[in-house]
Amino acid sequence: MSEASFASQNFVIRGADVIDGTGSARFRADVVVTDGRVSAIAPAGRGMGRNVVEASGMVLCPGFIDTHTHDDQLLLQPTLPHPKLTQGVCTVVTGNCGISLAPLLTRAPPAPLDLLGRDVFVHNTFREYLMALDQLQPCINVVPLIGHTTLRVRHVEDLGRTATLAEMSAMANEVAQALDAGAFGLSTGVYYPPARAATTEELLGVCAALKGRSAMLAMHLRDEGDNIDAALKEALDVGAASEADLVISHHKVVGPQNHGRTLETLQAIDQAALKQSVCLDCYPYEASSTMLNAEKASRTKEVLITWSQAYPEHSGKSLKTIAESWGLSLHAAAQRLMPGGAIYFAMAAEDVERVLQHPLTMIGSDGLPHDHRPHPRLWGTFPRVLGHYSRDKKLLPLETAIHKMTGLPARRFGLTGRGTIAPGNSADLVLFDPLEVRDNASYDAPDVPSTGIHAVYVNGHLALWRGKQIASHAGRRLIPSRTS
Ligand SMILES: [Zn+2]
Repeated sequence: MSEASFASQNFVIRGADVIDGTGSARFRADVVVTDGRVSAIAPAGRGMGRNVVEASGMVLCPGFIDTHTHDDQLLLQPTLPHPKLTQGVCTVVTGNCGISLAPLLTRAPPAPLDLLGRDVFVHNTFREYLMALDQLQPCINVVPLIGHTTLRVRHVEDLGRTATLAEMSAMANEVAQALDAGAFGLSTGVYYPPARAATTEELLGVCAALKGRSAMLAMHLRDEGDNIDAALKEALDVGAASEADLVISHHKVVGPQNHGRTLETLQAIDQAALKQSVCLDCYPYEASSTMLNAEKASRTKEVLITWSQAYPEHSGKSLKTIAESWGLSLHAAAQRLMPGGAIYFAMAAEDVERVLQHPLTMIGSDGLPHDHRPHPRLWGTFPRVLGHYSRDKKLLPLETAIHKMTGLPARRFGLTGRGTIAPGNSADLVLFDPLEVRDNASYDAPDVPSTGIHAVYVNGHLALWRGKQIASHAGRRLIPSRTS
Protein backbone atom coordinates (compact mmCIF):
# COMPACT_ATOMS: atom_id res chain seq x y z
CA MET A 1 0.00 0.00 0.00
CA SER A 2 1.42 3.38 -0.92
CA GLU A 3 0.68 6.76 0.52
CA ALA A 4 -1.55 9.19 -1.36
CA SER A 5 -1.09 12.93 -1.23
CA PHE A 6 -2.26 13.97 2.24
CA ALA A 7 -3.84 17.25 1.18
CA SER A 8 -5.88 16.10 -1.81
CA GLN A 9 -9.57 15.26 -1.80
CA ASN A 10 -9.02 13.55 -5.17
CA PHE A 11 -7.64 10.03 -5.10
CA VAL A 12 -8.19 6.41 -6.06
CA ILE A 13 -8.17 3.53 -3.62
CA ARG A 14 -7.09 0.60 -5.76
CA GLY A 15 -7.84 -3.07 -5.43
CA ALA A 16 -9.38 -3.19 -1.96
CA ASP A 17 -12.19 -5.57 -1.03
CA VAL A 18 -15.09 -3.13 -0.92
CA ILE A 19 -17.70 -3.76 1.78
CA ASP A 20 -20.18 -1.08 0.87
CA GLY A 21 -22.20 -0.81 4.11
CA THR A 22 -25.48 -2.18 2.72
CA GLY A 23 -24.82 -5.64 4.12
CA SER A 24 -24.09 -7.09 0.64
CA ALA A 25 -21.10 -9.33 -0.04
CA ARG A 26 -17.68 -7.75 -0.62
CA PHE A 27 -16.28 -7.19 -4.12
CA ARG A 28 -12.86 -6.13 -5.39
CA ALA A 29 -12.87 -2.69 -6.99
CA ASP A 30 -11.21 0.69 -7.35
CA VAL A 31 -13.00 3.53 -5.60
CA VAL A 32 -12.46 6.97 -7.09
CA VAL A 33 -12.91 10.08 -4.93
CA THR A 34 -13.32 13.51 -6.48
CA ASP A 35 -13.74 16.71 -4.46
CA GLY A 36 -14.49 14.76 -1.31
CA ARG A 37 -17.14 12.51 -2.81
CA VAL A 38 -17.12 9.02 -4.25
CA SER A 39 -17.28 9.67 -7.99
CA ALA A 40 -16.91 6.14 -9.39
CA ILE A 41 -16.59 2.50 -8.45
CA ALA A 42 -14.60 0.80 -11.19
CA PRO A 43 -13.43 -2.77 -11.78
CA ALA A 44 -10.08 -3.35 -10.03
CA GLY A 45 -7.20 -1.78 -11.97
CA ARG A 46 -9.49 0.45 -14.05
CA GLY A 47 -10.08 3.38 -11.70
CA MET A 48 -8.49 6.50 -13.14
CA GLY A 49 -6.90 9.23 -11.07
CA ARG A 50 -3.61 10.73 -9.97
CA ASN A 51 -3.18 9.93 -6.29
CA VAL A 52 -3.37 6.18 -6.02
CA VAL A 53 -3.54 4.26 -2.77
CA GLU A 54 -2.63 0.63 -3.45
CA ALA A 55 -4.88 -1.35 -1.14
CA SER A 56 -4.95 -5.01 -2.16
CA GLY A 57 -5.57 -7.30 0.82
CA MET A 58 -7.36 -4.48 2.64
CA VAL A 59 -11.05 -3.90 3.26
CA LEU A 60 -12.48 -0.53 2.24
CA CYS A 61 -15.78 0.39 3.89
CA PRO A 62 -17.80 3.49 4.85
CA GLY A 63 -16.60 5.45 7.90
CA PHE A 64 -18.13 4.10 11.08
CA ILE A 65 -20.98 5.91 12.82
CA ASP A 66 -20.83 5.76 16.62
CA THR A 67 -24.52 5.98 17.45
CA HIS A 68 -24.10 6.42 21.19
CA THR A 69 -21.53 8.85 22.53
CA HIS A 70 -20.90 11.38 25.25
CA ASP A 71 -18.47 13.32 23.07
CA ASP A 72 -20.29 16.68 23.30
CA GLN A 73 -17.33 18.39 24.99
CA LEU A 74 -14.59 16.17 23.54
CA LEU A 75 -15.42 17.54 20.08
CA LEU A 76 -14.70 21.08 21.28
CA GLN A 77 -11.22 20.35 22.55
CA PRO A 78 -8.05 19.30 20.74
CA THR A 79 -7.50 15.61 21.48
CA LEU A 80 -4.57 13.66 20.08
CA PRO A 81 -4.84 10.90 19.21
CA HIS A 82 -8.60 10.96 18.99
CA PRO A 83 -10.14 7.81 20.51
CA LYS A 84 -12.86 7.56 17.86
CA LEU A 85 -10.80 8.41 14.79
CA THR A 86 -8.28 5.69 15.68
CA GLN A 87 -11.14 3.16 15.42
CA GLY A 88 -12.34 4.32 12.00
CA VAL A 89 -15.24 6.35 13.35
CA CYS A 90 -16.10 9.28 11.06
CA THR A 91 -19.39 10.37 12.71
CA VAL A 92 -20.61 10.47 16.32
CA VAL A 93 -24.11 10.92 17.77
CA THR A 94 -23.79 13.13 20.86
CA GLY A 95 -26.05 14.06 23.76
CA ASN A 96 -27.15 10.54 24.72
CA CYS A 97 -28.69 9.21 27.96
CA GLY A 98 -30.47 12.52 28.62
CA ILE A 99 -27.11 14.24 29.02
CA SER A 100 -26.28 17.05 26.58
CA LEU A 101 -23.82 19.86 27.07
CA ALA A 102 -26.44 22.43 26.05
CA PRO A 103 -28.53 24.31 26.86
CA LEU A 104 -27.25 24.85 30.38
CA LEU A 105 -25.19 27.34 32.35
CA THR A 106 -23.82 25.87 35.56
CA ARG A 107 -20.56 25.37 37.41
CA ALA A 108 -22.02 22.59 39.55
CA PRO A 109 -23.58 20.00 37.22
CA PRO A 110 -25.22 17.17 39.16
CA ALA A 111 -24.18 13.58 38.36
CA PRO A 112 -24.39 12.19 35.71
CA LEU A 113 -24.07 15.50 33.85
CA ASP A 114 -20.58 15.81 35.31
CA LEU A 115 -19.51 12.89 33.08
CA LEU A 116 -19.00 15.62 30.47
CA GLY A 117 -16.77 17.68 32.79
CA ARG A 118 -17.55 20.37 35.36
CA ASP A 119 -16.61 23.80 33.97
CA VAL A 120 -18.00 23.07 30.53
CA PHE A 121 -21.70 23.96 30.79
CA VAL A 122 -21.36 27.37 29.17
CA HIS A 123 -23.90 27.28 26.32
CA ASN A 124 -27.14 29.05 27.09
CA THR A 125 -28.96 27.78 24.00
CA PHE A 126 -28.60 24.65 21.90
CA ARG A 127 -27.94 26.87 18.90
CA GLU A 128 -24.93 28.39 20.70
CA TYR A 129 -23.46 24.93 21.15
CA LEU A 130 -24.01 24.13 17.47
CA MET A 131 -22.31 27.39 16.53
CA ALA A 132 -19.32 26.48 18.70
CA LEU A 133 -19.08 23.15 16.83
CA ASP A 134 -19.28 24.92 13.47
CA GLN A 135 -16.64 27.43 14.43
CA LEU A 136 -14.19 24.85 15.69
CA GLN A 137 -14.82 22.19 13.03
CA PRO A 138 -14.09 18.95 14.84
CA CYS A 139 -12.06 16.10 13.34
CA ILE A 140 -15.18 13.98 12.75
CA ASN A 141 -18.84 14.58 11.84
CA VAL A 142 -21.43 15.27 14.51
CA VAL A 143 -25.09 14.27 14.87
CA PRO A 144 -26.29 16.19 17.95
CA LEU A 145 -29.15 15.28 20.28
CA ILE A 146 -30.54 17.42 23.10
CA GLY A 147 -30.87 15.75 26.53
CA HIS A 148 -33.98 15.68 28.71
CA THR A 149 -31.94 15.53 31.94
CA THR A 150 -30.04 18.67 30.97
CA LEU A 151 -33.39 20.39 30.35
CA ARG A 152 -34.69 19.18 33.72
CA VAL A 153 -31.68 20.61 35.53
CA ARG A 154 -32.34 23.89 33.76
CA HIS A 155 -36.12 24.11 34.15
CA VAL A 156 -37.41 21.91 36.98
CA GLU A 157 -37.12 23.64 40.33
CA ASP A 158 -37.18 20.49 42.46
CA LEU A 159 -35.54 17.50 40.76
CA GLY A 160 -37.12 15.19 43.32
CA ARG A 161 -40.57 15.58 41.74
CA THR A 162 -42.09 15.37 38.30
CA ALA A 163 -42.30 18.57 36.23
CA THR A 164 -45.22 20.94 36.55
CA LEU A 165 -47.19 21.69 33.39
CA ALA A 166 -45.34 25.00 33.04
CA GLU A 167 -41.95 23.31 33.42
CA MET A 168 -42.95 20.60 30.95
CA SER A 169 -43.91 23.14 28.34
CA ALA A 170 -40.69 25.12 28.94
CA MET A 171 -38.74 21.93 28.22
CA ALA A 172 -40.85 21.08 25.18
CA ASN A 173 -40.31 24.60 23.83
CA GLU A 174 -36.61 24.20 24.21
CA VAL A 175 -36.71 20.85 22.36
CA ALA A 176 -38.59 22.53 19.50
CA GLN A 177 -36.00 25.34 19.35
CA ALA A 178 -33.15 22.81 19.33
CA LEU A 179 -34.81 20.92 16.45
CA ASP A 180 -35.14 24.21 14.55
CA ALA A 181 -31.47 24.92 15.21
CA GLY A 182 -30.35 21.51 13.92
CA ALA A 183 -30.70 18.88 16.65
CA PHE A 184 -31.55 15.43 15.29
CA GLY A 185 -33.75 14.68 18.26
CA LEU A 186 -33.98 14.14 21.99
CA SER A 187 -32.44 11.69 24.44
CA THR A 188 -33.72 10.65 27.85
CA GLY A 189 -32.23 8.91 30.88
CA VAL A 190 -34.87 8.47 33.58
CA TYR A 191 -32.66 5.84 35.20
CA TYR A 192 -30.46 8.65 36.58
CA PRO A 193 -31.20 10.56 39.81
CA PRO A 194 -31.92 14.02 38.29
CA ALA A 195 -34.55 12.50 35.98
CA ARG A 196 -35.79 9.56 38.03
CA ALA A 197 -38.80 11.47 39.36
CA ALA A 198 -39.98 12.24 35.83
CA THR A 199 -43.20 10.31 35.24
CA THR A 200 -44.22 8.79 31.91
CA GLU A 201 -46.58 11.78 31.59
CA GLU A 202 -43.63 14.17 31.84
CA LEU A 203 -41.78 12.23 29.14
CA LEU A 204 -44.88 12.33 26.94
CA GLY A 205 -45.22 16.07 27.52
CA VAL A 206 -41.62 16.85 26.58
CA CYS A 207 -41.55 14.39 23.68
CA ALA A 208 -44.69 15.95 22.21
CA ALA A 209 -42.30 18.47 20.64
CA LEU A 210 -40.98 15.67 18.41
CA LYS A 211 -44.32 15.00 16.72
CA GLY A 212 -44.33 15.55 12.98
CA ARG A 213 -40.63 16.45 12.95
CA SER A 214 -39.09 13.10 11.79
CA ALA A 215 -36.98 13.30 14.94
CA MET A 216 -34.95 10.71 16.81
CA LEU A 217 -35.70 9.71 20.40
CA ALA A 218 -32.88 7.82 22.15
CA MET A 219 -33.97 6.39 25.49
CA HIS A 220 -31.88 4.97 28.30
CA LEU A 221 -34.45 2.69 29.96
CA ARG A 222 -35.68 3.45 33.48
CA ASP A 223 -34.56 -0.02 34.58
CA GLU A 224 -32.24 -2.55 32.93
CA GLY A 225 -32.59 -5.07 35.77
CA ASP A 226 -35.55 -6.73 37.46
CA ASN A 227 -38.13 -4.31 36.05
CA ILE A 228 -36.87 -4.17 32.48
CA ASP A 229 -40.21 -5.31 31.00
CA ALA A 230 -42.11 -2.31 32.37
CA ALA A 231 -39.24 0.04 31.47
CA LEU A 232 -39.13 -1.23 27.91
CA LYS A 233 -42.90 -0.87 27.59
CA GLU A 234 -42.66 2.73 28.82
CA ALA A 235 -40.03 3.56 26.20
CA LEU A 236 -41.99 1.91 23.40
CA ASP A 237 -45.18 3.74 24.45
CA VAL A 238 -43.44 7.13 24.59
CA GLY A 239 -41.75 6.47 21.24
CA ALA A 240 -45.06 5.54 19.61
CA ALA A 241 -46.98 8.48 21.09
CA SER A 242 -44.37 11.00 20.00
CA GLU A 243 -44.14 9.43 16.50
CA ALA A 244 -40.37 9.47 16.91
CA ASP A 245 -37.75 7.11 15.53
CA LEU A 246 -36.99 5.36 18.79
CA VAL A 247 -33.53 4.06 19.73
CA ILE A 248 -33.32 1.84 22.82
CA SER A 249 -29.91 2.84 24.18
CA HIS A 250 -27.11 0.33 24.98
CA HIS A 251 -29.57 -2.53 25.28
CA LYS A 252 -28.67 -5.01 28.02
CA VAL A 253 -29.99 -6.79 31.09
CA VAL A 254 -28.04 -6.60 34.33
CA GLY A 255 -27.85 -8.79 37.40
CA PRO A 256 -27.36 -12.59 37.39
CA GLN A 257 -31.07 -13.16 38.15
CA ASN A 258 -31.90 -11.47 34.82
CA HIS A 259 -29.31 -13.12 32.60
CA GLY A 260 -30.91 -14.60 29.51
CA ARG A 261 -33.84 -12.19 29.51
CA THR A 262 -32.75 -10.54 26.24
CA LEU A 263 -34.68 -13.42 24.68
CA GLU A 264 -37.87 -11.76 25.93
CA THR A 265 -36.83 -8.13 25.46
CA LEU A 266 -35.76 -8.66 21.86
CA GLN A 267 -39.01 -10.46 21.17
CA ALA A 268 -40.94 -7.50 22.59
CA ILE A 269 -38.91 -5.11 20.43
CA ASP A 270 -39.57 -7.25 17.35
CA GLN A 271 -43.28 -7.16 18.08
CA ALA A 272 -43.23 -3.39 18.51
CA ALA A 273 -41.22 -2.94 15.32
CA LEU A 274 -44.21 -4.24 13.37
CA LYS A 275 -46.14 -1.12 14.39
CA GLN A 276 -43.60 1.62 15.14
CA SER A 277 -40.08 2.77 14.30
CA VAL A 278 -37.69 1.24 16.83
CA CYS A 279 -34.09 0.10 16.83
CA LEU A 280 -31.32 -0.33 19.40
CA ASP A 281 -27.66 0.22 20.03
CA CYS A 282 -25.15 -1.86 21.91
CA TYR A 283 -21.47 -1.91 22.90
CA PRO A 284 -19.48 -5.15 22.65
CA TYR A 285 -18.53 -5.72 26.31
CA GLU A 286 -19.92 -7.56 29.31
CA ALA A 287 -19.29 -4.69 31.73
CA SER A 288 -21.13 -1.37 31.80
CA SER A 289 -19.83 1.99 32.96
CA THR A 290 -21.52 5.06 34.39
CA MET A 291 -21.64 7.26 37.48
CA LEU A 292 -20.68 5.67 40.80
CA ASN A 293 -23.83 4.75 42.71
CA ALA A 294 -23.42 3.16 46.15
CA GLU A 295 -26.61 1.06 45.90
CA LYS A 296 -25.72 -0.37 42.52
CA ALA A 297 -22.04 -0.82 43.43
CA SER A 298 -22.82 -2.80 46.59
CA ARG A 299 -25.10 -5.15 44.61
CA THR A 300 -22.61 -5.83 41.78
CA LYS A 301 -20.08 -8.66 42.00
CA GLU A 302 -17.13 -6.72 40.62
CA VAL A 303 -16.74 -2.94 40.37
CA LEU A 304 -13.79 -0.88 39.10
CA ILE A 305 -13.48 2.82 39.93
CA THR A 306 -12.97 4.99 36.83
CA TRP A 307 -12.73 8.33 38.68
CA SER A 308 -13.33 9.80 42.10
CA GLN A 309 -13.35 13.47 42.85
CA ALA A 310 -12.29 13.02 46.47
CA TYR A 311 -9.81 10.16 45.90
CA PRO A 312 -8.43 10.45 42.35
CA GLU A 313 -5.55 8.11 43.30
CA HIS A 314 -8.05 5.24 43.51
CA SER A 315 -8.99 5.43 39.80
CA GLY A 316 -8.45 2.02 38.22
CA LYS A 317 -8.75 0.08 41.49
CA SER A 318 -11.45 -2.38 42.44
CA LEU A 319 -14.05 -1.18 44.93
CA LYS A 320 -13.52 -4.35 46.96
CA THR A 321 -9.80 -3.64 47.45
CA ILE A 322 -10.51 -0.03 48.42
CA ALA A 323 -13.26 -1.05 50.86
CA GLU A 324 -11.00 -3.65 52.50
CA SER A 325 -8.14 -1.18 52.90
CA TRP A 326 -10.53 1.27 54.59
CA GLY A 327 -12.21 -1.42 56.69
CA LEU A 328 -15.60 -0.32 55.26
CA SER A 329 -18.53 -2.04 53.56
CA LEU A 330 -18.75 -1.75 49.76
CA HIS A 331 -21.66 0.67 50.18
CA ALA A 332 -19.82 2.93 52.64
CA ALA A 333 -16.63 2.91 50.56
CA ALA A 334 -18.57 3.83 47.41
CA GLN A 335 -20.25 6.68 49.27
CA ARG A 336 -16.89 8.01 50.39
CA LEU A 337 -15.56 7.90 46.80
CA MET A 338 -18.56 9.77 45.31
CA PRO A 339 -18.94 11.73 43.12
CA GLY A 340 -17.20 9.40 40.73
CA GLY A 341 -17.54 6.84 37.99
CA ALA A 342 -17.37 3.06 37.87
CA ILE A 343 -17.30 -0.03 35.68
CA TYR A 344 -19.83 -2.69 36.69
CA PHE A 345 -19.43 -6.35 35.70
CA ALA A 346 -23.09 -7.40 35.61
CA MET A 347 -23.95 -8.79 32.16
CA ALA A 348 -23.84 -12.26 30.62
CA ALA A 349 -21.90 -13.04 27.44
CA GLU A 350 -24.94 -14.76 25.88
CA ASP A 351 -27.02 -11.58 26.24
CA VAL A 352 -24.34 -9.33 24.78
CA GLU A 353 -23.93 -11.67 21.82
CA ARG A 354 -27.66 -12.03 21.26
CA VAL A 355 -28.16 -8.27 21.20
CA LEU A 356 -25.14 -7.73 18.92
CA GLN A 357 -26.55 -10.22 16.42
CA HIS A 358 -30.05 -8.76 16.34
CA PRO A 359 -30.86 -7.19 12.95
CA LEU A 360 -32.10 -3.92 14.52
CA THR A 361 -28.90 -3.40 16.57
CA MET A 362 -26.43 -0.65 15.69
CA ILE A 363 -23.02 -0.25 17.33
CA GLY A 364 -22.62 2.58 19.85
CA SER A 365 -19.58 2.85 22.11
CA ASP A 366 -21.12 4.76 25.05
CA GLY A 367 -17.48 5.72 25.79
CA LEU A 368 -16.87 8.24 28.56
CA PRO A 369 -13.98 10.39 27.32
CA HIS A 370 -13.43 12.41 30.50
CA ASP A 371 -13.01 9.50 32.95
CA HIS A 372 -9.49 9.13 34.40
CA ARG A 373 -9.51 5.39 33.77
CA PRO A 374 -12.30 4.90 31.23
CA HIS A 375 -14.06 1.71 30.21
CA PRO A 376 -12.09 0.24 27.25
CA ARG A 377 -15.14 0.71 25.00
CA LEU A 378 -14.01 4.33 24.49
CA TRP A 379 -10.97 3.16 22.46
CA GLY A 380 -11.91 -0.36 21.40
CA THR A 381 -15.57 -0.74 20.45
CA PHE A 382 -15.44 -0.84 16.65
CA PRO A 383 -12.23 -2.88 16.13
CA ARG A 384 -13.53 -5.27 18.83
CA VAL A 385 -16.67 -6.00 16.83
CA LEU A 386 -14.63 -6.47 13.62
CA GLY A 387 -11.79 -8.51 15.15
CA HIS A 388 -12.96 -10.30 18.27
CA TYR A 389 -16.64 -10.84 17.45
CA SER A 390 -16.70 -11.12 13.65
CA ARG A 391 -13.33 -12.64 12.67
CA ASP A 392 -12.34 -14.59 15.79
CA LYS A 393 -15.67 -15.67 17.31
CA LYS A 394 -17.51 -15.72 13.96
CA LEU A 395 -20.55 -14.24 15.68
CA LEU A 396 -21.54 -12.32 12.57
CA PRO A 397 -20.17 -11.94 9.01
CA LEU A 398 -17.93 -8.92 8.45
CA GLU A 399 -20.45 -7.48 5.99
CA THR A 400 -23.16 -7.60 8.68
CA ALA A 401 -20.88 -6.14 11.35
CA ILE A 402 -19.99 -3.24 9.06
CA HIS A 403 -23.64 -2.67 8.10
CA LYS A 404 -24.42 -2.21 11.82
CA MET A 405 -21.77 0.55 11.99
CA THR A 406 -22.56 2.29 8.69
CA GLY A 407 -25.57 1.74 6.42
CA LEU A 408 -28.00 0.85 9.19
CA PRO A 409 -27.35 3.89 11.45
CA ALA A 410 -27.15 6.22 8.42
CA ARG A 411 -30.63 5.07 7.40
CA ARG A 412 -32.11 5.26 10.91
CA PHE A 413 -30.70 8.75 11.58
CA GLY A 414 -31.52 9.97 8.06
CA LEU A 415 -27.89 10.73 7.14
CA THR A 416 -28.48 11.09 3.43
CA GLY A 417 -25.41 10.41 1.28
CA ARG A 418 -23.49 8.66 4.05
CA GLY A 419 -23.14 5.17 5.47
CA THR A 420 -22.67 3.39 2.13
CA ILE A 421 -20.07 3.51 -0.63
CA ALA A 422 -21.93 4.71 -3.70
CA PRO A 423 -21.30 7.34 -6.38
CA GLY A 424 -22.21 10.80 -5.07
CA ASN A 425 -21.83 9.88 -1.39
CA SER A 426 -19.50 11.77 0.93
CA ALA A 427 -16.13 10.07 1.10
CA ASP A 428 -16.17 8.99 4.74
CA LEU A 429 -14.03 5.89 4.31
CA VAL A 430 -12.02 3.40 6.34
CA LEU A 431 -9.28 1.16 5.03
CA PHE A 432 -8.36 -1.70 7.36
CA ASP A 433 -6.59 -5.02 7.41
CA PRO A 434 -9.20 -7.72 8.10
CA LEU A 435 -6.57 -10.15 9.43
CA GLU A 436 -4.92 -7.64 11.73
CA VAL A 437 -7.76 -5.48 13.03
CA ARG A 438 -8.15 -5.77 16.79
CA ASP A 439 -8.91 -3.74 19.90
CA ASN A 440 -6.04 -3.35 22.35
CA ALA A 441 -7.80 -1.35 25.06
CA SER A 442 -8.41 -3.42 28.21
CA TYR A 443 -9.70 -2.79 31.71
CA ASP A 444 -6.07 -2.59 32.89
CA ALA A 445 -4.89 -0.39 30.01
CA PRO A 446 -8.01 1.31 28.69
CA ASP A 447 -6.60 4.01 26.43
CA VAL A 448 -4.54 1.97 23.99
CA PRO A 449 -5.42 2.52 20.31
CA SER A 450 -6.44 -0.44 18.17
CA THR A 451 -4.37 -2.19 15.50
CA GLY A 452 -5.13 -2.67 11.82
CA ILE A 453 -6.94 0.58 10.92
CA HIS A 454 -4.70 1.86 8.11
CA ALA A 455 -6.45 4.97 6.83
CA VAL A 456 -9.51 7.00 7.71
CA TYR A 457 -10.96 9.63 5.36
CA VAL A 458 -13.48 12.16 6.64
CA ASN A 459 -15.35 14.06 3.92
CA GLY A 460 -12.57 13.02 1.54
CA HIS A 461 -9.77 14.37 3.75
CA LEU A 462 -7.19 11.92 4.99
CA ALA A 463 -7.77 12.17 8.73
CA LEU A 464 -5.72 9.22 10.00
CA TRP A 465 -2.87 7.36 8.33
CA ARG A 466 -1.36 4.31 10.05
CA GLY A 467 -2.24 5.55 13.51
CA LYS A 468 -1.10 9.11 12.90
CA GLN A 469 -3.69 11.89 12.88
CA ILE A 470 -3.39 13.99 9.73
CA ALA A 471 -6.44 16.26 9.52
CA SER A 472 -7.93 17.63 12.73
CA HIS A 473 -10.76 19.69 11.23
CA ALA A 474 -12.19 17.50 8.48
CA GLY A 475 -15.52 16.85 10.17
CA ARG A 476 -18.69 18.88 10.11
CA ARG A 477 -21.92 19.13 11.98
CA LEU A 478 -24.47 17.22 9.96
CA ILE A 479 -27.84 18.81 9.21
CA PRO A 480 -31.05 16.83 9.62
CA SER A 481 -32.63 16.30 6.21
CA ARG A 482 -35.91 17.91 7.39
CA THR A 483 -34.23 21.31 7.96
CA SER A 484 -31.78 21.32 5.05
ZN1 LIG B 1 -24.66 6.69 27.46
